Amino acid sequence: METKYLKDWEKDLNCCIRCAYCFEGCPIFKEMGWEIDGARGKAVLSYGLLVGDIEPSQYIVDKLYECTFCKDCVERCSANVQIPDILAAIRADFVEAGYKYDSHTALLEKIDKSGNIFGKELHPPETEEEGEIPVLLGCRFLERTEEAKRYLDLLRALGVKPKVFDETCCGMPYAVLGYKEGFKRQQDKFRESVPGKKIICLCTTCVFFIRKKYPDLEAVYVIDEVVKRLPETAHKKLGIKATYHDPCNVSRGMNMVDEPRQIMEEIGVELIEMPTKGKQAECCGGGGGVLVTNKTLSTALAKNRAEQAIDVGAELLVTLCPTCELNIGNAAKDNGGELEVKNLLDLIYDAVV
Ligand code: SF4
Ligand code: SF4
Repeated sequence: METKYLKDWEKDLNCCIRCAYCFEGCPIFKEMGWEIDGARGKAVLSYGLLVGDIEPSQYIVDKLYECTFCKDCVERCSANVQIPDILAAIRADFVEAGYKYDSHTALLEKIDKSGNIFGKELHPPETEEEGEIPVLLGCRFLERTEEAKRYLDLLRALGVKPKVFDETCCGMPYAVLGYKEGFKRQQDKFRESVPGKKIICLCTTCVFFIRKKYPDLEAVYVIDEVVKRLPETAHKKLGIKATYHDPCNVSRGMNMVDEPRQIMEEIGVELIEMPTKGKQAECCGGGGGVLVTNKTLSTALAKNRAEQAIDVGAELLVTLCPTCELNIGNAAKDNGGELEVKNLLDLIYDAVV
């Protein structure tokens, strides 16, 4: 198989000394238990494909699509090997070689047709006044109209004048699943849709991805605005207890570990920490396309995280990523509903608005 995209990562793959520091935290390895499932196994497989020692098979393709892009391996790797980027490249080579999943094609067709992952005509909530700074809701919040309205009201209460616009997907699913051409197309549509160079993003995944793939845009994360403005804004103390799940794109991706915890303290939420937290926090199972590639695996990881929250005695888990919220929330419901899952933005809204 030709490895035209993976070739760009040859240097990185050569830096992998097979030390296995990345073993410990990989959620896929923890769940499946085989060497091939961990980050090192994926590096070895990718290297074998690159140098032609092995040829792809559906089994190998499946293994390299079973990664949530949680970046735990990157965090632990002393050689800074970027496993998620390497996997995005080999996936693009797989797609060019004709390896395709029906579930991926169906998802990407929805984005192509409607501009969002749901394949539906969706618009941001109407606003009465003309805003100033463009706010990107992202597909998931675009579909949750009530939440979107609340978060826009929250921004107003914090003194920001949000300007909604007819948004389209940032293209993350194409890039993660290895669809280079589709990504380029969606990237053009996204750039065209954004009214200006600076946007506030509500979604953790969008902001991380836009910072990485759109160097010409300035993506501001909503939490940065909250941190800046909350101390000056009148707000209540909620007097509740909760645990906090660090989304990978927030803690490992954007180096934001303390800020959500400081906000919780500021609004009167007593924090009950889980054993893995911050940059070592375990994954919700919702990233890297695993939610559409292998739903059973994705659900198993979410269930593990929900159980960890229940084990520390939490009745409420708060997080910031809408996908973590969805995946852990569904797992918690299946687990008997002992655990409620909410977005931290909802708690901030309750304290401020
Ligand atoms: S990816 Fe990094 S941590 Fe994992 S085996 Fe290779 S060098 Fe070690
Ligand atoms: S990104 Fe996460 S799931 Fe993927 S190999 Fe690294 S630790 Fe495992």
